[in-house]
Amino acid sequence: MKPYTPGEQPPPGKFIKLNTNENPYPPPAAVVDAIRSAATGPLNRYPDPVATSFRRAAAEALGLPGPEWILAGNGSDEILTLLVRGFVGEGERLRLPYPSYILYRTLADIQGAAWEQTPFVDDWKLPAAFGQSADDLKLVLLPNPNSPSGTIVSPEQITEIASTLTCPLVVDEAYADFAQQNCIDLVQSCDNILITRTLSKSYGLAGIRFGFLIAKPEVIAELGKIKDSYNCDAISIAAATAAMHSQDWLADVVTKMNLTRERLTAELAELGFRVTPSHANFVWCQHPSGRHAEIYEYLKRNQILIRYMDFPDWGDGLRISIGTDEQIDACLLMISRAIQSFA
Ligand code: PMP
Repeated sequence: MKPYTPGEQPPPGKFIKLNTNENPYPPPAAVVDAIRSAATGPLNRYPDPVATSFRRAAAEALGLPGPEWILAGNGSDEILTLLVRGFVGEGERLRLPYPSYILYRTLADIQGAAWEQTPFVDDWKLPAAFGQSADDLKLVLLPNPNSPSGTIVSPEQITEIASTLTCPLVVDEAYADFAQQNCIDLVQSCDNILITRTLSKSYGLAGIRFGFLIAKPEVIAELGKIKDSYNCDAISIAAATAAMHSQDWLADVVTKMNLTRERLTAELAELGFRVTPSHANFVWCQHPSGRHAEIYEYLKRNQILIRYMDFPDWGDGLRISIGTDEQIDACLLMISRAIQSFA
């Protein structure tokens, strides 16, 4: 087994943490109130196994017909695990683009299944081959916006890809709240499009562990049979429900973070980086010196954590999560010093 290695999670306070695409801002006050009130509830009792309050709130916030279109999970990573467990058998295959979210490969490995990567072409465009069907191909996964690039594929192209596939196409929308588009409508209009979402990024709740699947009710019902009975706890369900009721807070925080992202993009370009225009809460950048690992190490020595990523047969670069403006200023200053130190 080759394990998936998540980003570093150091003890709080030691680093300016710009490495795992969390929200630098705390969640809305209503969420903290809901957690307090859930903590005084009947914790000796099991939670609602299907997180009904959350699913109702999410269906309303997202304009879905009802809660039966939603399955709640312990982070979207659990939802992805359920999807691979449910759709891909031993010896069968899943497909993902490259470079993208490496966890999908690990999930296939755990299942005794195979995975196949379709490289992005021409600066993060998806080739038509991504939609080619095959008998043993049982699941196709597409992060949109993609990580580490922050780039998006249009709903029109996603519809086209889905129409040529004979298996489900999962659009992983972990970062979609930061983009100007999403594929939620497609779940109702296309038979084989499913969407995963998380509360770890835009909602500022990575510590709560909550994610969900949006799919046709019959798919939700079947996948519900293979989840742990109580996969979401009472406190998380209360927090996530309050988060879905906080759509104004969400719009404000996304606007603020997107402004910071545009400033970071412009200032990295000033420092000579090639920055991929991002629709997520992080940016992918490459410096002409190619000394990405050294820049990462220099920042780490100075208590700033970003992500160095090296994709075999493709290349390496730096992924920087959007922090507060002060954190991004500190990061930019340290990057400029790192580059100067090479001169
Ligand atoms: N999908 C993508 C593309 C991600 O980058 C992440 C974060 N690592 C996740 C899903 C999982 O997020 P979570 O389990 O916190 O919901």
